[in-house]
Amino acid sequence: MAAMLQPQIILLKEGTDTSQGKAQLVSNINACTAVADVVRTTLGPRGMDKLIHDDKGNVTISNDGATIMKLLDIVHPAAKILVDIAKSQDSEVGDGTTTVVLLAGEFLKEAKPFVEDGVHPQNLIRSYRTACYLAIEKVKELAVSIEGKSLEEKKSLLAKCAATTLSSKLIGGEKEFFASMVVDAVIAIGNDDRLNLIGVKKVPGGTMRDSFLVNGVAFKKTFSYAGFEQQPKKFLNPKILLLNIELELKSEKENAEIRLSDPSQYQSIVDAEWNIIYDKLDKCVKSGAKVVLSRLAIGDLATQYFADRDIFCAGRVAEEDLQRVAAATGGTIQTSVNNIIDEVLGTCEVFEERQVGNERFNIFSGCPSGRTATIVLRGGADQFIEEAERSLHDAIMIVRRALKNSTVVAGGGAIDMEISRYLRQHARTIAGKSQLFINSYAKALEVIPRQLCDNAGFDATDVLNKLRQKHALPSGEGAPYGVDINTGGIEDSFANFVWEPSVVKINAINAATEAACLILSVDETVKNPKSESAQGEAAASAMAGRGHGGGFRGRGRGMRRR
Ligand code: ADP
Ligand code: MG
Repeated sequence: MAAMLQPQIILLKEGTDTSQGKAQLVSNINACTAVADVVRTTLGPRGMDKLIHDDKGNVTISNDGATIMKLLDIVHPAAKILVDIAKSQDSEVGDGTTTVVLLAGEFLKEAKPFVEDGVHPQNLIRSYRTACYLAIEKVKELAVSIEGKSLEEKKSLLAKCAATTLSSKLIGGEKEFFASMVVDAVIAIGNDDRLNLIGVKKVPGGTMRDSFLVNGVAFKKTFSYAGFEQQPKKFLNPKILLLNIELELKSEKENAEIRLSDPSQYQSIVDAEWNIIYDKLDKCVKSGAKVVLSRLAIGDLATQYFADRDIFCAGRVAEEDLQRVAAATGGTIQTSVNNIIDEVLGTCEVFEERQVGNERFNIFSGCPSGRTATIVLRGGADQFIEEAERSLHDAIMIVRRALKNSTVVAGGGAIDMEISRYLRQHARTIAGKSQLFINSYAKALEVIPRQLCDNAGFDATDVLNKLRQKHALPSGEGAPYGVDINTGGIEDSFANFVWEPSVVKINAINAATEAACLILSVDETVKNPKSESAQGEAAASAMAGRGHGGGFRGRGRGMRRR
């Protein structure tokens, strides 16, 4: 009787779907493993690429973990976390995006049997966190500093890091060529944090080797009028005027209505228009500038006027390019031609218009602030150049990171094997369940060398056994040994310059562990009907629900009971 009088507590809205407990946890783990399986094959220099086409018909070919994850459009709520860590790895360090997803997937895979056997997830989480902490300490301990080297030495060391990143990409065949280009570009911009100071211009056609680096700004020649051909196309140390105004003769009759009583006045109105524009042009010329750029149009009159005075001009320059010219040459963009003082004019060592493929480029090199660099990328198909650009982005980020933190570790799975060995050894000193968990964390780390082998078609078990034996040497001399991607054996990765900045590893291990712990800590997923409809799935399920009458009958029963 008393039980019947108790008010029913309604916590969640009608139609709310909840799943909880062990089954939910296992299902989340499965989803994450499935996601990791997608990017698995892209890891390493012998990794495969993915071709993704969306419903709009855009085709992307990529090897980059973050790009693939972004384009996959994953809907599973738990698996989305992996997309997020790939993205964050991409923005934090730029490389190691496949690694982070793979590690997270593997940590979860190793945790699954424990969860199924009834281990409380919190125990797992605690051990994983400890293992993560120990692993990172170990990376820091093994990291080798490149500080205190001369510029030339530093450059070649940084190029090694860039080459390691590029070796897994489509442009891997030309990794040395691009690595030194990237290093030059990064050194050129110095400590400036703005990534857009390194411009990448894509010009289809030619071969990869036709790509080149401009120590300054380059952009495609803009639309030009008659008279342009007579303008000089090369200057040494020119003054550069940057404008945000139109230098075009406006026929005011289209914009204004003027009433004249005396036809002879008509000429004076026409003259006034011409005077205004001539006055503007005159001021530009008087400023002493030899190159005039404007974000807005520079018409045919102005083009001819400048040509007669040996001045180069370009109108309709893209905002982004104009700003980069300003940053590079030290000029300031003007919105009026009155009072142009010398300080607002920029300069550079050489300005020239050059043919690149079948495009003409305006190139400003030897800029005083030296804070910009432009890589002009050449290559066949569009998708190829797009992927090349993404790969260069990775390499640029890596070089910047390495320059800032200036410590590197051996790649090719060497560092992962070494941490794994260290953790196994450490686990043996622990009494209790934690020993097992740390051991499985250590085992999960081996996924990197194993996958590198698998992707290259080597016998992973064989290589891993060799690596384990090498790393177990008591002298510690085996620590830098990793997978030799060329022969299918093992090699001293460090001595062979397969280098990665240590931040890549630290960040990857941290992010992957965090993600794994986060997923392990979720034991209930609640899906409320509102958020479902927000995703656009509602229509279908609501229809289905109504069809069976399930939704309504459910509520009816509830009411009757009350
Ligand atoms: P991510 O998106 O994680 O950077 P990659 O496809 O770029 O994935 O692969 C990176 C992995 O490939 C790293 O573990 C790196 O050490 C390894 N690697 C890169 N170059 C070589 C090489 N020449 N030999 C062996 N391993 C390499
Ligand atoms: Mg990479």
